[in-house]
Amino acid sequence: MKKTKVENEDAFVKELAKRFASPLEGRQTSNRLTKKQGRGGREGRAASGVPAVAPAWRRVIKSIGDDTSVTLPSPGSVLLTTTDTLVESTHFERPYTPARLLGRKALSVSLSDIAAMGGAPLFFLVSITFPAGIDKKYIDGIYDGFKSCSDEFGVPLIGGNTARAPIVTISTTVLGEVKRGREVLRSGARPGDIIFVTGTPGDSALGLKVLQNHGLKALKGRFKRAALRHLDPAPRLSAGQELSRLKLATSMIDVSDGVALDLKRLTQASGAGAEICLSGFPISKELKLFSETTGTPWGELALSGGEDYELLFTARPKDEKKVAALSRSLGLKMTRIGRITETGLNVIGADGRPVKLKRLGFEHF
Ligand SMILES: [Mg+2]
Repeated sequence: MKKTKVENEDAFVKELAKRFASPLEGRQTSNRLTKKQGRGGREGRAASGVPAVAPAWRRVIKSIGDDTSVTLPSPGSVLLTTTDTLVESTHFERPYTPARLLGRKALSVSLSDIAAMGGAPLFFLVSITFPAGIDKKYIDGIYDGFKSCSDEFGVPLIGGNTARAPIVTISTTVLGEVKRGREVLRSGARPGDIIFVTGTPGDSALGLKVLQNHGLKALKGRFKRAALRHLDPAPRLSAGQELSRLKLATSMIDVSDGVALDLKRLTQASGAGAEICLSGFPISKELKLFSETTGTPWGELALSGGEDYELLFTARPKDEKKVAALSRSLGLKMTRIGRITETGLNVIGADGRPVKLKRLGFEHF
């Protein structure tokens, strides 16, 4: 490897380290956690609305700049770890993916996995590759995106690596935690449990369609909200944490590859089946409009479109009202879409007749 290349790559890591320097650097930090710090999350936000130091920073003894980071564990909690990679031409196309939103999404998709366990995110690490000659503004934009998402959810960056490659790839690793015994697995669903989904699935797939057809003009048109759902999905962290804290979810998964496929994963892990009803299924006004104007049935996009990063979870019938109350208090739609059965995966159309899906969802291989 030529020396200049190494120097350039080092420069990018230094840039990351500069942007994500600990706000506590130079200050004495205690190795003991107060109860409030131990919880992580957004408690550090001052009442005035000015972001205070994210509680997770108090657990960082050494951030970027040594061989590994050094952080403090929290007693009574289990560690959650997840990693994801976004690959140019597979997961995104540069011409219609603003760099800042790409950076945000790279972190959000991993935060979504922490949400699906009922956990709170603590820290993240990134590995990024980019081709020689890429506009530095694009890399800066990605870093800006990391920073805005990191600040929004109080998740410090504690490690980074960059390398040259023919395409842009971003790998994100997020560490999180949840009180021991409160982790919500995919395997806890039992026949009779009700299946819920947050938000309006299918919007991301619709947004992708519009972006593919109209490029960034999609961000100005009537499907703007759907395009943004694709480019900048919101990890449902508060919902995941509350469902775990209130012991409402018996099983949970985040919708990365489509409701149908992710539900299949959940039922397989639980050794059960499921029945989904399209009558009453939550779809957005944008998806309804698209379906009406193009004559495309919305069921396929809503059930098999990927990258919604909504939460799909099950709850006991006795807790249905509590789920509704939580949905109201969070201002986040949580809609009953079906129930867990003994075996199989059946979809019932709005007309009461069985629906056969052409494909379950996005298969990676
Ligand atoms: Mg997941």
